[in-house]
Amino acid sequence: MNLDFQKGLTENLPDLIRRTPKSDLHNHAALGGQLSDFRAFLGTDIPPPPPIMKGLREMDRYIYGHLRPLFQTRENFEFAIGAAFRQAKNDGIVRIEMSIDCWFVNHYPNRAEGLASFLKQSHQEYAPDVNWIPEMGFSRNFEAPGYQHCVEECLDSGFFRSIDLYGEELAEPPETYQYLFKKAKQQGMKCKAHAGEFGDADHVRKTAEVLELDAVQHGIASATSHEVMHWLAKNRIQLNVCPTSNVRLGVVKDLAHHPIRILFDHGIRVTLNTDDLLIFGASVSDEYFNLFQTGLFSAAELDQIRENGLR
Ligand SMILES: [Zn+2]
Repeated sequence: MNLDFQKGLTENLPDLIRRTPKSDLHNHAALGGQLSDFRAFLGTDIPPPPPIMKGLREMDRYIYGHLRPLFQTRENFEFAIGAAFRQAKNDGIVRIEMSIDCWFVNHYPNRAEGLASFLKQSHQEYAPDVNWIPEMGFSRNFEAPGYQHCVEECLDSGFFRSIDLYGEELAEPPETYQYLFKKAKQQGMKCKAHAGEFGDADHVRKTAEVLELDAVQHGIASATSHEVMHWLAKNRIQLNVCPTSNVRLGVVKDLAHHPIRILFDHGIRVTLNTDDLLIFGASVSDEYFNLFQTGLFSAAELDQIRENGLR
């Protein structure tokens, strides 16, 4: 329990919220920095994303239209990762699991080894005190040439301690990726996948069962099924929720109607996270503050959610 954090919420003192130790367990590293940082770095005026986007397709349109240069050169990618570490440190994040897309091994002549050594260096430079769990991330899009091989290289490198699957949720059945998750589990890695953002409650359960997940990224559709919620709570599968992302991608009407309240009330361990700060604009501190403002949770309940992420 942290009374300063609770006071920050009830007395509208953002600095107290920011200074309190928090986690960010659902963060796509290359999109984890501030838009203003990228504008300054690239020397161009990147327009802000539309306030509400229709799902991943419209978000991808924005990314490919305006943020593409960020990922095309090694220099820009490395800036993006540094910006994400700086953002975490400035926001009082003490534990971060940020996914690095496996495609980025392509920026390094020695592939996964080069990527790993850059990541270690960036962490040391910008956020050495933050407990950083290296997480490899990959999209369900295995049709992209050479992509599957990048994923296998990252897994075989032995560097990453967590794995996360994302992209078009219903594009492929979870069985397609089962061999990778089995291997990850054998290596003692934490297993995570995006589900229940656009898919339904049964899809969350199926994905979690097939891939033997420790945590689900989003998972909010579970709130429509008592059976699935009971199963998640019983199996202690955590949901790493990103409320602002859900609103801005049109999945949830507004923060006041976010199903995280239902999930919490069913005994599911939930956490609050950024997803893509560069696009959605809300830090972890903002997520707590904004959710408190809606009246969905008390300060003590949000403090409990904060502690979930630090356990
Ligand atoms: Zn995500």
